[in-house]
Amino acid sequence: MADRYLSFTGTAPGRFLTRRLGLPRPAALTRHTPGGPGLDGGLLHLTAGTSTLDLAPVLARTGLGADDDGRPAAVVLDATGVRDVDGLADVHAALHPVVRSVATSGRILVLGTPPDPDDHHQAAAQQALEGLTRSLGKETGRGRTVNLVRLAGAAAAAESTLRFLLSPKSAYVSGQVIDIGTAPDTAPGDADADDTAAGPGADDRPLTGRTALVTGAARGIGEAVAETLARDGARVVVLDVPQAEQDAARVAERLGGTALTLDITAAHAGRRILEALPDGLDILVHNAGITRDRRLANMPADRWAPVLDVNLASVLRTTDTLLDAGALRPGGRIVATSSIAGIAGNAGQTNYGAAKAGIIGLVRSLAPRALAAHGVTVNAVAPGFIETRMTAAVPLFIREAGRRMNSLAQGGLPADVAETTAWLAHPGSGAVNGQIVRVCGQSLLGA
Ligand code: NAD
Repeated sequence: MADRYLSFTGTAPGRFLTRRLGLPRPAALTRHTPGGPGLDGGLLHLTAGTSTLDLAPVLARTGLGADDDGRPAAVVLDATGVRDVDGLADVHAALHPVVRSVATSGRILVLGTPPDPDDHHQAAAQQALEGLTRSLGKETGRGRTVNLVRLAGAAAAAESTLRFLLSPKSAYVSGQVIDIGTAPDTAPGDADADDTAAGPGADDRPLTGRTALVTGAARGIGEAVAETLARDGARVVVLDVPQAEQDAARVAERLGGTALTLDITAAHAGRRILEALPDGLDILVHNAGITRDRRLANMPADRWAPVLDVNLASVLRTTDTLLDAGALRPGGRIVATSSIAGIAGNAGQTNYGAAKAGIIGLVRSLAPRALAAHGVTVNAVAPGFIETRMTAAVPLFIREAGRRMNSLAQGGLPADVAETTAWLAHPGSGAVNGQIVRVCGQSLLGA
């Protein structure tokens, strides 16, 4: 279902009317196209406080040149050295003169460190960066995004993340706080900084040689995820229910992958996957999902159970089966699918909200153990309003509200979730673990 309002506001009469009536004015976002241009302009690197971060080499590899016309496409503020409230004045002094000049669909990226539990002044100052980031995201407009990345260790561990957030691939990711671990020992199969040092061209197909299984990939977000992982070089296995066999086969054929039709809730699902992938796999994307909406007071058990089964129980079962069998190779990636409904809650979705919140619990608990025992990271994407068949079925008024109630005043596309998944699956993302990354244009719902 096309967003006609977004198209209208791009016309001259649309611009005139929305300005006069004070209506939301979404900017057409610049998204990644293969071989297409990156962000439109250069990068401005600012520092607040005294930083010891060796950021320049990492930023040099983003492919963005230095800003030379006072209209940066990206501003990176290194605030890792901010240790108290006085340091926050440096943050203001750095950003205040430049925020207005950031290009349309540009990026503002703040770098911090984890709040220190033993230093409440440092903790206050670093936590303050979160409030600043989320507030600036809500006021900056014109398709610009604002995110905070907290680094526990060296800048190199954050390279894949910085490259993602400073590119058109992250067009619909705003208002997020992403923690990067130390990952001192590169897990076998992970890239170290040198592997990504050759510049953007050498990183075109980072998933070459890797096998990815995407559940629910016959259409919608799952199809886009499979397509993006295949674009990045992965061999994809398109899993969907037997009723979607034709669509799954069509997607698999287009991507040069294979289709696997089974119901992910079936008792034998894990065994069927192991049989289909006797050599194991590298990337497991739990995307399959369903809704059966009704308020709890009106919800019989037969609407509760399937939602919990598809969205949560089968994710737990499949993950356990594949990890226990050692099927996920070291350097592997698990990406599960939560939702803003699992963070903020949603009337009529107690079943879905419970299942999607359960995904967050699963990710946070399993992530450190899966990394230690198997060298596998576990993260989740939490989409907001994404334009798919699922949301096209939502009644018009609620659909329109869902589209506009975010800082970018528009719905996201399946490709936005797919690009986020591809970043988490990237060989250089080994230090990104246990994260719940919202792809929601900074939805007004939830934090
Ligand atoms: P969709 O309905 O378009 O696609 C879901 C796919 O999952 C379908 O192909 C379906 O056949 C498959 N599937 C369902 N049950 C299955 C099962 N038991 N076994 C195997 N495959 C099964 O949905 P979508 O909008 O593309 O959503 C994809 C994921 O993103 C879901 O987990 C959904 O909850 C989540 N999500 C979507 C949105 C959104 O705005 N579209 C927002 C938040 C979260």
